[in-house]
Amino acid sequence: EKVFPAGPYIGSIDNGTSSTRFILFDTKGNIVTSSQSEFPQYYPNAGWTEHDLDEIYEYTVKCIENVCAELEDNGISPSEIKAIGITNQRETTCVWDKETGKPLHKAIVWLDVRTRELVQELINKTESKDAKHFSKKCGLPLSTYFSAVKLKWLLNNVPQVEEAHKDNRLMFGTKLTGGVHATDVTNASRTMLMNLETLQWDEEICQFFEINKSCLPAIKSSSEVYGNVVAGPLEGVPISGILGDQQSALVGQLCFKQGQLKNTYGTGCFMLCNTGSKPVVSTHGLLTTVGYKLGPEAECKYALEGSIATAGASVKWLRDNMGIIGKASEVGEFAQKVDNTGGVYFVPAFSGLFAPHWRDDARGTIVGITQYTTKEHICRATLEAVSFQTKDIMDSMEIDSGYPINLLRVDGGMTMSDQLMQIQADIAGVEIDRPSMLETTALGAALAAGRAVGLFEDLEKFETEASVSKFKPQISAEQRQEMTKGWKKALEKSMGWV
Ligand code: ADP
Repeated sequence: EKVFPAGPYIGSIDNGTSSTRFILFDTKGNIVTSSQSEFPQYYPNAGWTEHDLDEIYEYTVKCIENVCAELEDNGISPSEIKAIGITNQRETTCVWDKETGKPLHKAIVWLDVRTRELVQELINKTESKDAKHFSKKCGLPLSTYFSAVKLKWLLNNVPQVEEAHKDNRLMFGTKLTGGVHATDVTNASRTMLMNLETLQWDEEICQFFEINKSCLPAIKSSSEVYGNVVAGPLEGVPISGILGDQQSALVGQLCFKQGQLKNTYGTGCFMLCNTGSKPVVSTHGLLTTVGYKLGPEAECKYALEGSIATAGASVKWLRDNMGIIGKASEVGEFAQKVDNTGGVYFVPAFSGLFAPHWRDDARGTIVGITQYTTKEHICRATLEAVSFQTKDIMDSMEIDSGYPINLLRVDGGMTMSDQLMQIQADIAGVEIDRPSMLETTALGAALAAGRAVGLFEDLEKFETEASVSKFKPQISAEQRQEMTKGWKKALEKSMGWV
């Protein structure tokens, strides 16, 4: 029989790339219960990925209903849930009609590369002909990744969207936020349209993209009451925390001090380092982004970010496309059966390469295959690829942030794999700390939501009861160097393919 900790509770809606979930926390950051559902991915063309907004909504509501039903079955009233936070996949671009409330297209997912040619056109249109033309203002280069480019594609290619834009009926967001058209600073900082200094939509950039400001949501802090739930078992409960998933993990890992960093391994992999109250411009391929702003009056904290497009997605590919594993956890089990990859390297550049390379002309490649190669080697090469990519980002992060990295705090679905954690420690050459509570992404939004309704006084003093597993490097520096050399060569092979 499950024992439920005492209320009050905070609910967190975590809409990831591969699944959506509703997780309940108590005020000590312990998980009370949760419900999770993988939702369909649509791949209409090579390199395209879409989500159905109605489906995401439906699956999310189902998760909330499951959790509330479970509470009631155990004699607990859902009214113990005092606030709700939302954390979401960032950059994924949704548009809908103001009058009907209906989506005008499927959501274009963050890792979708359909805008490759458009990005080139946009770069040519800038005065400097440089992808980094707006980087000082918005922290981001022109790339297939960010929402403004995806929105521009929709305006250029989907007549209903173009018409709605002309008629001021178009609503854009990375998320549908009930009847209120609002977003938070962290999500807004992933569009390219927000000015990092003013935290408002930037006139010049909006004009460059020919995007009407009337379709953009109001930008609020990450922790305040945006509105209340309008129906269902949680009717009336305030929605009071919103953070993009990676920033939410930064908060959930309690990285409130300058120089503290976390690495999240989900569909992609994202390292964020808190750089304090000033945005730091990267010279090594990292992004500058808002870390969090915990309250309308609170100071905005910035972060440097290294984003990797493909991490867990490569495991999903082994499972769903190649069929060489039956479930995600088998990748580690197979990888463990061999001591090394037998010289095989896998560069899963399915959506090009993000940080620190930013090469949208890269595609996935497997090199070094011999007669001897087995699926065990491929599985190991998959986990190594995630670890090598992380190591590349660590190197940039140390230089750009000025803080040496001697410890990596991790979270996300992939970190359930002990094998990945050991391989990562070996390849990075630093200790890995994995908390026992891996849902730190959901926790961040819950903390922000709880703060706004007075459940926490000072989040920077918050401590969780989670314990930590440690993984230490077990290979020599020479071995590491040798392996890394091969990785760099494989990386070269993946670039320039398209
Ligand atoms: P997201 O928030 O992006 O949806 P999650 O943090 O839920 O992602 O992580 C899911 C990803 O982790 C999937 O891509 C899946 O393939 C991978 N994954 C889940 N469990 C394991 C495991 N035991 N070993 C390796 N990869 C895993």
